[in-house]
Amino acid sequence: MRIREKARLFTAPDEVRAMGLYPYFRPIDSDQDTEVIIEGRRVLMMGSNNYLGLTNHPEVKAAAIEAIRQYGCGCAGSRFLNGTLRIHLELEEELAEFIGKEATLLYTAGFLVNQGVISTVVARNETVVIDRTDHASIIEGCRLAFGKTVKYEHNDMAALERALKALNGSGGLVVVDGVFSMEGDIARLPEIVKLAGQYDVDVMVDDAHGIGVMGEGGRGTAAHFGVNDKVDLIMGTFSKSLGSIGGFVASDRIVIEFLKHQSRALIFAASPPPASVASVRAALTIMKREPERIQRLWDNTRRLWAGLEAIGVDKGRSETPIVPVLIGDDLTAFRVCRRLQEEGVFVNPIVSPAVPAGGALMRLSVMATHTFEQIDRAVEKIDKVMKELKVKQEEQR
Ligand code: PMP
Repeated sequence: MRIREKARLFTAPDEVRAMGLYPYFRPIDSDQDTEVIIEGRRVLMMGSNNYLGLTNHPEVKAAAIEAIRQYGCGCAGSRFLNGTLRIHLELEEELAEFIGKEATLLYTAGFLVNQGVISTVVARNETVVIDRTDHASIIEGCRLAFGKTVKYEHNDMAALERALKALNGSGGLVVVDGVFSMEGDIARLPEIVKLAGQYDVDVMVDDAHGIGVMGEGGRGTAAHFGVNDKVDLIMGTFSKSLGSIGGFVASDRIVIEFLKHQSRALIFAASPPPASVASVRAALTIMKREPERIQRLWDNTRRLWAGLEAIGVDKGRSETPIVPVLIGDDLTAFRVCRRLQEEGVFVNPIVSPAVPAGGALMRLSVMATHTFEQIDRAVEKIDKVMKELKVKQEEQR
């Protein structure tokens, strides 16, 4: 079938638009603060991954501007060839020290790290073992790997052990989100690294939502559990706590050296631009200097949990600033988001296939820079809209 025919048959977005409920690609016309301007109105942002509020920090912006002055706007080549700047190497060293690994390697997006690392590390006769709810970019890496992929039930350690046993010693890699991006719960890393050790496979943690959130000084989920040295590969992104775009993988020097010469998503993609690299370095500096930001993020998270509990809304499995609220069917989730936007609150709908059919969510995320007044306002509006649309969580559990 030709592409235009496929496109014509794909009518779902137009159907939702016709109902006035289309929730995607909503353009923001302002700085990315805790409140943003959408459709000419100020709305409270409860759906951003800007956990520490660093995306629009004046020092971060200034660092980006200075880097553009010094180096220009792009690198016009990949890290491998003409696209390595001194600041790439400096950021790699700073990140290695921060994460507590020998070396790191920068990629142009977090997505590319998962795609480029998993596909390179797993050989033809080996297996990638993943949690069923791992991020789409991990799945992408698995699809590109020559080896097989096996999924186990979310955070189910007995299921993981069965999967590892079935490898019969053929070798593999376990990949998990440190903080699961939809559920907001945490991978059971102490058990995972123990099982991986028993079955002699490697472990990779995607800490996109863990860096800047979990562990001492925001060093991530492995640091939170004290198992950094037992996790073979730690990846993180710059698009969340670190306020920019890009990603990294941290590991032993020898592994990073291998990836530098083997990973196609690194070698054949232009390197992260100067402005991004400089802004990440500035964000990292602020994160180290102001640990109270992380404290504030957790205070706000607890405020949101308590607020939801007080209005009888279940926060799902959330153990982090990612708070999924079960709504049910996709259209109701779209309606909730639309009504909340009208009430001045931006939230993200998560519908199938990102979650199982009937398990549509409203995904809330907290920022360190939210005030308690803003969190309380969000809760009040959620209460109003959930009641108005008669969303009954308990009937769905
Ligand atoms: N891993 C996880 C768990 C994520 O949530 C994301 C981004 N949503 C990525 C990887 C990809 O990172 P990026 O958006 O920075 O490319």
